[in-house]
Amino acid sequence: KTVVEKIVRRISLQMRDQQQAWQESPEGRRMLEFRSNLPAYKEKEAILSAISKNQVIIISGETGCGKTTQIPQFILESEIESVHGAACNIICTQPRRISAMSVSERVAFERGEKLGESVGYRVRLEGMKGRDTHLLFCTTGILLRRLLADRNLKGVTHVIVDEIHERGMNEDFLLIILKDLLPHRPKLKLILMSATLDAELFSLYFNGAPIVNIPGLTHPVRTLFLENILEMTGYRLTPCNQVDDYGQERSWKMNKQAPRKRKSQIASAVEDAIRSADFKDYSLQTQESLSCWNPDCFGFNLIEYILCNICENERPGAVLVFMTGWDDISSLKEKLQAHAVLGDSKRVLLLACHGSMASSEQKLIFEEPEYGVRKIVLATNIAETSITINDVVFVLDCGKAKETSYDALNNTPCLLPTWISKASARQRRGRAGRVQPGECYHLYPRCVYDAFAEYQLPEILRTPLQSLCLQIKSLRLGSISDFLSRALQSPEILAVQNAVEYLKIIGALDENENLTILGRYLTMLPMEPKLGKMLILGAIFNCLDPILTVVAGLSVRDPFLTPLDKKDLAEAAKSQFSGAYSDHLALVRAYEGWKDAEVDLGGYDYCWKNFLSFQSMKAIDALRREFIGLLTDIGLVDSNTTSYNTWSYDVNLIRGIICYGLYPGICSVVHNEKSFALKTMEDGQVLLYLDNHLKMLGGYLEFFMEPTVVDMYQSIRRELDDFIQSKLLSPRMSIHSYHNLLSAVRLLISNDTCEGRFVFGRQVLKSSKTSVVA
Ligand code: ADP
Ligand code: MG
Repeated sequence: KTVVEKIVRRISLQMRDQQQAWQESPEGRRMLEFRSNLPAYKEKEAILSAISKNQVIIISGETGCGKTTQIPQFILESEIESVHGAACNIICTQPRRISAMSVSERVAFERGEKLGESVGYRVRLEGMKGRDTHLLFCTTGILLRRLLADRNLKGVTHVIVDEIHERGMNEDFLLIILKDLLPHRPKLKLILMSATLDAELFSLYFNGAPIVNIPGLTHPVRTLFLENILEMTGYRLTPCNQVDDYGQERSWKMNKQAPRKRKSQIASAVEDAIRSADFKDYSLQTQESLSCWNPDCFGFNLIEYILCNICENERPGAVLVFMTGWDDISSLKEKLQAHAVLGDSKRVLLLACHGSMASSEQKLIFEEPEYGVRKIVLATNIAETSITINDVVFVLDCGKAKETSYDALNNTPCLLPTWISKASARQRRGRAGRVQPGECYHLYPRCVYDAFAEYQLPEILRTPLQSLCLQIKSLRLGSISDFLSRALQSPEILAVQNAVEYLKIIGALDENENLTILGRYLTMLPMEPKLGKMLILGAIFNCLDPILTVVAGLSVRDPFLTPLDKKDLAEAAKSQFSGAYSDHLALVRAYEGWKDAEVDLGGYDYCWKNFLSFQSMKAIDALRREFIGLLTDIGLVDSNTTSYNTWSYDVNLIRGIICYGLYPGICSVVHNEKSFALKTMEDGQVLLYLDNHLKMLGGYLEFFMEPTVVDMYQSIRRELDDFIQSKLLSPRMSIHSYHNLLSAVRLLISNDTCEGRFVFGRQVLKSSKTSVVA
């Protein structure tokens, strides 16, 4: 035997002894008892034998039955106990970083170990993995990145893909690669885990792989819809049967053609109902409460009322509130903290659950609070299936989730709050019946629920494929369309063509669909290609600081707040930042002012005075730091110098770069006294015709220019593209060679030839010609 073999043998014997010692210790025994009561434990033998007999198996079972924490552990334990010793290398992917982290910690704890011994995790920019780690929890993105360097997953014995029912883009993508890999790695085992029962689709995809179903145990949950809730408050919702109308709204959301004002009657009926409802002491008719009203999440006041009612009148048990997104969660948390009962830390433990939280914060979510304290957790749909909070008895469901949607016809991506599916609503409800009978408050009427889709559309069918196409290329997986035709459900050909065309236009792919050097850099920046490109431009043209803010601003909710009742004041505050320029630059100035105020701990007051969202500013700050880290990692920024900021105060250069970075998502503007039309730069197609009334549209136009600029723009674009590619190839290229280009970029947007305005998120608000400012 070789020395290496001997060492390996000794280590695995040690692991076996350690495992045995733990299982026989008092804590270990108690843990084993807890584990053996989980439904998954009862299927342990069946699962292990199915794995040994098949290359691919699919496991389905209710959330909380023990799939994520137990099944990887079963494999690990049985391998450690086997004659070869721990000759396994198990990778278990999670769609989100928070679950990869919390689950690995939990599994290490269940094994009586510290994280980083036999169990580890890896997420972007963070990880804990030791020499003896045989079970690694990681995000799907991390495994995809590993495939870049190691196409055959050398040394990996088991790949477990968790939460496949979510049908995330990364997971669908990974499954195509694994399916192609399996014949080349006959010993590699693939285990797919799903929280819903519709596992047949996956079984079919993997040539009839067997499905092991874990029977669940859940308690009954009393279900209340909005009409029932309102009845409790003494208010009655007028019955309505306009499901068709609602259906119409959904289809509108899918293709974004109808103007937004054709909002369904049903939604406004609900809105009116809640608005005019008098929740006992809560008068919603004042202007002030109207400005708190957020139609996307069905009213903070209603949520506050229900929570207060639970705290004062209901039996013990934690409350889980499903909100639309992180921004809503933080605003709601702020509001609740100011409440007499809910803000009282002696009675209520108020927690927010989000993807990037610290692990100390995470622990509080899982722990039982002190006696007499009620735990309230505000979460997004991540608490639907990927993490389990044991003591939940009450669930509030706002009915919406943020979902990226994409319409191939108009080639427009959007991150919009959308109604969830029936399957999601069921999942949310199920969270209330984990330990005892529970209650679920759906904050929408029954008829809205009836109109929900059965299942959510898989992400690959509803989002732009640009980043995915770049990944396919960087993994050298051949022709993009061939590869995607092997997906579980293939995206439309048009959507694939659009994505490839887009990548060619922005210079990430060449004419033959090969990755350019810019494309290669873009694959290393985990964000939309256009945002990555803007960062790269900022670094190359040495004006990174403002560009960091602009890109961060494009990734968070609009930091400029406009309360309905203080619209004029808010607009005035904003124009004091924007001056003669666009919202991009207004944000840059607002951020700089905020940063100065933060130094004296006055950041919050500054936001309040200037109608800025404190949460968004904090998020921008954090993102900026992350971006700098990423750019340093890929060698575009040298953190020892500040030379990348030489031109940071050159306003015209910055505007030129924003415009160039967002290309082709920019339009020319043709206007006269009464109206203006927006035309695409490529073929002059009219995208939108605005009269002088307030309008909203589903946002992809990012910059408007006068037609005269268009020609100039087209003429320097090629040259600029070439310059960037060569600069990336040899980063040390002299600065002088681009002075001519610098001037050209500056001229691109000059004060008197261009009018433009940045569109934040999905809303463009225009009232008259005069409000269109460059
Ligand atoms: P599934 O993946 O099937 O949804 P999990 O394996 O995540 O289920 O969880 C199984 C059970 O383990 C949960 O019901 C819960 O009781 C317990 N559990 C999971 N994570 C934790 C944790 N961090 N702290 C305490 N208990 C946990
Ligand atoms: Mg799970």
